[in-house]
Amino acid sequence: MAKGRAKPRAKSKTGRAKPKAKRRSFFSFAVRVGLGLILLLGAALAVYQTWGPFELWPRPAPVPPDAQTLLHETISQLKRLPRLPSLRIEKTEPIERAGLVFYSADFSFETETEIILAEQAVEDFWKSQIPALEVDAAYPEEAAKGTTLLMANRGGSPLLAVRLFLREVPAEPVRPAEPLLPENHGRIAIVIDDLGNNREAAQQLADLPAAITLAIIPFTPYAEEAERLALRAGKEVVLHLPMEPQDYPHTDPGPGALLSAMSDADLERALLSALQEVPNAVCVNNHMGSALTEDPAAMAALMRTLKARGLCFLDSRTSAHSVAQDQAEQAGVPAARRDVFLDNDRRPYAIRRRLLELSRLAHRHGRAVGIGHPYPETIQVLAETLPHLQKLGYEVVPLSQLANGP
Ligand SMILES: [Zn+2]
Repeated sequence: MAKGRAKPRAKSKTGRAKPKAKRRSFFSFAVRVGLGLILLLGAALAVYQTWGPFELWPRPAPVPPDAQTLLHETISQLKRLPRLPSLRIEKTEPIERAGLVFYSADFSFETETEIILAEQAVEDFWKSQIPALEVDAAYPEEAAKGTTLLMANRGGSPLLAVRLFLREVPAEPVRPAEPLLPENHGRIAIVIDDLGNNREAAQQLADLPAAITLAIIPFTPYAEEAERLALRAGKEVVLHLPMEPQDYPHTDPGPGALLSAMSDADLERALLSALQEVPNAVCVNNHMGSALTEDPAAMAALMRTLKARGLCFLDSRTSAHSVAQDQAEQAGVPAARRDVFLDNDRRPYAIRRRLLELSRLAHRHGRAVGIGHPYPETIQVLAETLPHLQKLGYEVVPLSQLANGP
């Protein structure tokens, strides 16, 4: 310190510099006072942080005691399930993220089917045991790794995170025989909308090893081709009929659309010419149509024609106020409604979650209808996940089998 001050400043040339010794003693006094003040302030802050009414800086939250309880209960719940023979608990530990401490558990499996079962079991258990829990999807970066991450949150703060993943199976796997005894868990119809603009997607969907249904938009370049591919693969075909949306004409439902301004006769003519484009359709569902499906008179006119043609109707539910299904029932037209949109979020992880939601609805109600789109992500997830759902005892059926129903 003294060395640094040994160089006199330029202004000392003015002759007004104080004597060296006096300056030094004043300076060391100031340093002592300063240090003392800093120590005092530090002690005061520490006391305040520990006992004061407010936190001056965030202190790490303790692990909530019920997080550990929830973890143990979740593990014993999974162990009770007879259909998870390869379940292995890899790791359980408290972890800290963004100043919050919660429990984290890693479970691994040898089959994707078991992961689906485990995922459903964990989620159902959390929801049934602790109604205040919010069950959440994954961190996106986890989802990208093909891992399923379930979060149990309370009041927005995490309590327990469970990660389910596929572990490497040894070269000579010591695997039990197929552990699943399929029993019917419910019937699922999966309708892929908006076909007719993409030949390749139609081909890939037709090739899927499950009885999905293809909904084809009339007056599109590949409408005829999509129908042919679907029928050749034994898939059911429905007419995806363009109807007036709320923000028409800002949003255009496409050629041949049914519009609110049309008379009953015009609506019938439009429907019949659209049907000529997809002549083997057994059912009709609406493309857009958030305005027209709210119109009882237009829906009644539509249903009269469907009834006369022996066709069923699927309400895509693009409007929460749709009267289409009511009008179908009044006209005696077999009808169904969409339960789940599979790919509003196109990330594969999100699509898989929607498929699981669909299977859960089917389990609860015996039946469920999902609508997806010919996105590459949707096709990929369907190809991967449908065989597992079928193995678990869910039956994928053509849409017409769920029109009306119990
Ligand atoms: Zn559509």
